[in-house]
Amino acid sequence: MDKADVVIVGTGHGGAQAAIALRLAGHEGSILMLGRDSEPPYERPPLSKEYLAGDKPFERIMIRPAQFWADKGIAMRLGAMVTEVDPIAHEVVLHDGSRIGYRKLIWAGGGDPRRLSCPGASLKGVHAVRDKRDVDAIMAQLDEGARRFVVIGGGYIGLEAAAVLRKLDCEVTLLEALPRVLARVAGEELSRFIEAEHRAHGLDLRLETAVEAIEGDSGKVTGVRLSDGEVIPCDAVIVGIGIVPAVGPLIAAGAAGSNGVDVDIYCRTTLDDVFAIGDCAAHANPFADQAVIRLESVQNANDMANTVARAIMGDKQPYHALPWFWSNQYDLKLQTAGLSIDYDQTLVRGDPASRKFSVVYLKEGKPIAFDCVNNTRDYVQGRKLLESEIGEVDLDLLADPEVPLKDLL
Ligand code: FAD
Repeated sequence: MDKADVVIVGTGHGGAQAAIALRLAGHEGSILMLGRDSEPPYERPPLSKEYLAGDKPFERIMIRPAQFWADKGIAMRLGAMVTEVDPIAHEVVLHDGSRIGYRKLIWAGGGDPRRLSCPGASLKGVHAVRDKRDVDAIMAQLDEGARRFVVIGGGYIGLEAAAVLRKLDCEVTLLEALPRVLARVAGEELSRFIEAEHRAHGLDLRLETAVEAIEGDSGKVTGVRLSDGEVIPCDAVIVGIGIVPAVGPLIAAGAAGSNGVDVDIYCRTTLDDVFAIGDCAAHANPFADQAVIRLESVQNANDMANTVARAIMGDKQPYHALPWFWSNQYDLKLQTAGLSIDYDQTLVRGDPASRKFSVVYLKEGKPIAFDCVNNTRDYVQGRKLLESEIGEVDLDLLADPEVPLKDLL
């Protein structure tokens, strides 16, 4: 039976950073990464942005050049799906039944795209946007002449894909079930601004719109039927309605968790010597008043990976990293710092009509998050403000875009 000192499940952002951080911290034992994907670690954010647009080839979205892993003595087995964890024997089982022993296991499985549950959901031409294969399939359809797209879901991924497709001059309809886009992650000011931008770029954006079925002919998509009976004809459907954490084998092995897998401040699961990081790890977040949440961001995957590498190297430090995120749509650069969960007030710095402004989220008079549109200065200084865990601030100064946020420190 094969064995490694540290086995990492998942070759995405979290898994890759965990291996890198272990080596940087001087870990000399064997490291084995197991990934069900067929490509070495690559960045996911460009999949709905520059990669889909054809502006960045695959080589430019790889997390490290292919040779890096071998140079660092990091073994990688691709096309290897872990189906079972045996926490007593300290072994994982692969899809082919082979077993691999570990001293420490890091689970960085991310998530699987949530699928539609309506009729027609598995017709050819219905795409998720989670991995390279998904986006390659969309690009292949574009190459074959597909021009009419329906995007289901007005979260970041759906909106980014819609923006790229509009830039490619496709006809795009975006369907959102809720009364506004980005409803789960942003306040109304940002949602309304983003909606107006997309409409100005020719997107047919429909809110509070429910999908009844995907229609097809000879196994291929021909349209999307809405609950009011209208059928929107299309060549392809892109579904961006969230993910389901990929933690089945861990939960089956007895790890605690209901929305993903539960981890403590050192990213330890309830199984001995098993850590979990990234999109699948439910943790009490200090920037959300210790609410137990999962974060789906590169920041969270990387910072959790660093926390685990330190813990394995005997330098235990609790996970305490300010959440941040970004999104690009058309020429808009959106940067987010902090978490707006349970905000009770918002302030807008600057005029949205100028296409450069920030939304500040407050709770009990204290800033807890910033959404900055084409406003990197506010983003950088807003991060510092949040990291300083500042209390109540002068709201008139905060609302004045002429006052740099650093002056509030
Ligand atoms: P992943 O990177 O998803 O890696 C998980 C890996 O584990 C996958 O390779 C998967 O195949 C593998 N795996 C799962 N189960 C098993 C198993 N049983 N056996 C073997 N392997 C397994 N974040 C941002 O901060 N900014 C952005 O702009 C942004 N844009 C995004 C755009 C898109 C299209 C997507 C999909 C995500 C975006 N994200 C963005 C989110 C970000 O990419 C994720 O938060 C990040 O990838 C999480 O890292 P992870 O390691 O937890 O999971």
